[in-house]
Amino acid sequence: MSAKNANSEKPPLRILLCAPRGFCAGVVRAIDAVERALEKYGAPVYVRHEIVHNKYVVESLRRKGAVFVEELDEVPNGDRPVIFSAHGVPKSVPDEAARRNLFAIDATCPLVTKVHREAMVHFKRGREIVLIGHAGHPEVIGTMGQLPAGAVALIETAQNARAFLPRDITQLAYVTQTTLSVDDTAEIVSILRERFPSIVGPHKEDICYATTNRQEAVKRVAPNVDAMIVVGAPNSSNSQRLCEVAERSGCHITALLQRAADIDWSILRNIKSLGLTAGASAPEVLVEEIIDAFAARYRVSVENVSGPAEDIFFPLPRELRNDAAE
Ligand code: SF4
Repeated sequence: MSAKNANSEKPPLRILLCAPRGFCAGVVRAIDAVERALEKYGAPVYVRHEIVHNKYVVESLRRKGAVFVEELDEVPNGDRPVIFSAHGVPKSVPDEAARRNLFAIDATCPLVTKVHREAMVHFKRGREIVLIGHAGHPEVIGTMGQLPAGAVALIETAQNARAFLPRDITQLAYVTQTTLSVDDTAEIVSILRERFPSIVGPHKEDICYATTNRQEAVKRVAPNVDAMIVVGAPNSSNSQRLCEVAERSGCHITALLQRAADIDWSILRNIKSLGLTAGASAPEVLVEEIIDAFAARYRVSVENVSGPAEDIFFPLPRELRNDAAE
């Protein structure tokens, strides 16, 4: 059979590609930081936690000489760099690195650092702080760990917001995790504002531009497709939120996948259209891999559904800048 005939026998499939999707400026900076440190200082370069939530990225950095550790006690004394991930770390981590005289490089996303600063300002002004976020997420651990235990109360749901009892309703502030659902967070904030009208918070929530734009893109595409695939890791908060947004926007078949090999073809048997996006830590090469897997089974046409252009760029951590170029 000729290639032309084989192709015409495949069922047609319209793929609507969400834009923007994939890597955000904070993730690009964190990955560049590890690569630049490897170039500048040679291997090994230690990285505390997954630098970003993506196995493919972590494995490719590991092959280049990065060593991923959970805690600083796995880093030997000496002059090897140790990089903190884009999610941020509790204050105890840089303190411990300084105590041991380790060469620490902080790749915390500047938009996470901004939340840390907000929390510290509220604390200095004597306010009790509410952090809207998900328990156990590294970013939440990092933000809560900027301040002494008990200074920050975590609120995960609207129900938590209704039940929360502050020490003093006139001395209250909130900050948020950067990768939350925009809609869920708006609901929680409105409950807090209604219950505690003098609560102080950011002008908009702290949800970052990348999270917001990727959720908006999914809202545009999801109502018009039979299924939606989000490329991302199961522990990636912003990728999980993209799946939820797709479901709430009316798309009943959604899947969060790391690689093409994870596609469950049985649930996609009768689809005629597919939405495709990627979380902020998923590289474009994995989106292409998914498209190729569909192209092997369907006669695909790919359309870009574009949203706002993103031109945010964060310079590398100071230690890694090439002074002449930057
Ligand atoms: S998702 Fe947002 S906060 Fe997180 S690294 Fe990317 S830009 Fe920074």
